Order: sequence, then structure tokens, then C-alpha cells
Amino acid sequence: MKVLVTGGTGYIGSHTCVALQAAGHEITIADNLSNSSPEALARIARISGTRPGFQALDMRDAPGLEKLFDAQCFDAIMHFAGVKAVAESVADPLKYYSNNVMGSIALFDSALRHGVTRLVFSSSATVYGENSRSPIREDAPVAPVNPYGRSKHMVEEILTEMCRANAGLRVMALRYFNPVGAHPSGLVGEAPVGTPNNLMPYLCQVAAGRLEELTVFGTDYPTPDGTAVRDYIHVMDLAEGHLRALEFLESHGGMHLVNLGTGRGTSVLEMLTAFQRVNQVPIPHRFGARRPGDTKETFADVALADRVLGWRTQYSLDDMCRDAWRWQKMNPKGYE
Ligand code: NAD
Ligand code: UDP
Repeated sequence: MKVLVTGGTGYIGSHTCVALQAAGHEITIADNLSNSSPEALARIARISGTRPGFQALDMRDAPGLEKLFDAQCFDAIMHFAGVKAVAESVADPLKYYSNNVMGSIALFDSALRHGVTRLVFSSSATVYGENSRSPIREDAPVAPVNPYGRSKHMVEEILTEMCRANAGLRVMALRYFNPVGAHPSGLVGEAPVGTPNNLMPYLCQVAAGRLEELTVFGTDYPTPDGTAVRDYIHVMDLAEGHLRALEFLESHGGMHLVNLGTGRGTSVLEMLTAFQRVNQVPIPHRFGARRPGDTKETFADVALADRVLGWRTQYSLDDMCRDAWRWQKMNPKGYE
């Protein structure tokens, strides 16, 4: 298939491009490079032997999208492009509705008019309400608590209504839990700008000596060791999930919402311990207060992904820690 990958130079998109090319698909990436580097293209090429097509493009640039769809015929779109920092979304909500919602509308509008009917959308477990009981099923109440989560939910709703109105459409929104890790080659990975907020990149930068110590946010949660529990999923498993979604849409129409997680919860302390053990590197840390807005426990019910996609995760927590650290060591400053 010929696949347009928006946001394909970013963290999850770049890994999915590697998987798509390995499966024989031809890809074109469209990305405005606001949170990624063109070096990712060279790295994807080093891993898969083929440099993907690339178009520097903002999703809100309707004439630019029009030109792209006029010039190339796509069988499917994987839509990763968007902004994703929860705290920033609270401080600057318009940035989130503009990039994530308006950008998606412009993309879908152009795609529809050019007859592209298959689409996989990057959604997030943040669409679920804070009080959802884990394991969280796809039919759990949706109640995002910040502009980022709301922007993802809005796009899901827009896609659902588009599918109602257009019988020929085939769409899957994938609700990711906590993507971590990197390609085992260490050539592509997550390159956060500035000080990372997320646990795994923070751990990596402490291990590398770029940050002094990790603060474990909250030790009094009602969990087995008192620290918060999340469903960390290796980005290679996530990429494979996207391939399965594309295959599924070959024979299934309408709108589908599917969780991508491991179905297992891991606490902050378990992650910290695994990282130190697997990589034989000490992580200076201290125990601090809960981070405002954090939930005690979030992990996925993955029965639907198993049933409809025939997909289960293959990579372990140890793999996540090893691969994240390899990427960090090989690329201390990301793609710079
Ligand atoms: P990323 O920032 O590494 O990748 C996103 C890419 O989109 C970047 O290359 C960026 O330059 C590009 N982009 C942003 N706004 C754009 C715009 N308006 N036009 C064109 N390109 C634009 O992020 P990621 O972690 O790879 O996330 C990919 C997708 O998955 C995002 O939509 C994100 O919301 C979603 N998601 C990520 C996580 C996570 O923890 N990483 C979890 C759930 C969902
Ligand atoms: N966390 C932590 N210290 C950090 C960063 C994160 O203790 O420096 C905790 C955080 O409170 C949460 C878990 O690690 O319980 C995962 O956080 P992350 O931001 O990676 O994911 P999210 O909370 O968005 O699921």
C-alpha cells in the first residue's frame, strides 16, 4: 500500500515507518518538524534500506495538503501529527485545538475529497475519565480532564460522525497507554525537547548524568508499593499494532476504537528497579509528593485488540528499559 504518515518523523511515527517499510509498504511522511528532526529520515533509511518520501507540511495548511493529495495517490493515512504535552495544553489550549483538531479537520477534508478512505488515528488513554477502573475497556466512560485529552476525544468524535455520514470510510482510532523504549538498533527513539516530563525519558537522562536525580511522585497511593501504576508499552509493539490496524481496515468498514497497551500495570518503583537492574546503572532518586492530576492506576483491557487485530505485545519491561537506555547512550542529545 501507499501510505501517508503524518507526524512520521516523530517518536511513534518513525518506528511505525520502519515497520511499514519492513512490511513492504511505500510511505510518504508529512510533518512540520515542530517536534522532530529530518535526521529521523536518515535513520529510518539506515534501518530499512529505503528513505521515505518526505514533505515538510503543517496539517493546518489546507492548500499544501491539497497539493500533496493532487500529486500522490494514497491507499491509507496514518495520522500521528499533533502536539502532546498535557501541562502545555492547560497553559495554551488554543495550540492544542489548532494543531490537533483544526489540523485533523484540514487533513480529513482533503483526504475525503481525494477518495482516501482508510485512516488510522493516534488517540490516547487520556480520553478516559480519571475515575475509570483498570483494566480500562474501550466502552468505559470518556471524560478527558485537560485540553490535550479533549482534543484527542474531539477528533475521535469527528471521525465517528464522518463514518456515519460516509458508508465507505474505514477508520481505527488507537488509544495508546504509555509508549516507551526505542528501536533495538538504537537508531531511532524518543528525543524530547527540554527537560522531559515522562518517567522513562527522565530515567534515561538521570542515568546519563544529564539530570541529577529522579523524583518519585507520590508514595502513598493505594497500590502494592505505594507508587502509581501505568501500562508501559514498547514502541515496537505499538508500531506492530498499527500494521495490524491497517490490515484490519482492508476488510472492515466504519469506526473502530481500540486500546493499545500490555494489559499489565507497572509501578514507578518497579520501573526504577528494573531499569537499574537491566542496565546496571544506578539512578539517584528521592521520594516526593504526588504530581497534581495523576491517577493511582491506569492500565488497559487488551481483549479487544487481541480479538479484532490478533495483536498482543511481545516486548517485556526489561526490553523497554534496555532499548530506551541504548538509544539514550547512542544519542545523548537526541538527533542533534
Ligand atoms: P512526537 O511529538 O514525537 O511526534 C509528533 C509529530 O507530529 C512530530 O514530528 C511533530 O513535528 C509533528 N507535528 C506536530 N504538529 C504538527 C502539525 N500541526 N502539522 C504537521 N506535523 C505536526 O509525538 P509522538 O509521541 O510520536 O506522538 C505521536 C502521536 O501519538 C501524537 O498524536 C500523540 O498525541 C499521540 N500519543 C502519544 C503518546 C505518547 O506518550 N508519546 C501517548 C498517546 C498518544
Ligand atoms: N513519574 C515520576 N517521576 C517523574 C516522572 C513521572 O514519579 O519524574 C511518575 C508519574 O507520577 C506517573 C508515572 O511516573 O505516576 C508515569 O508518568 P508519565 O508522565 O510517564 O505518564 P502519565 O502520567 O502521563 O501516564
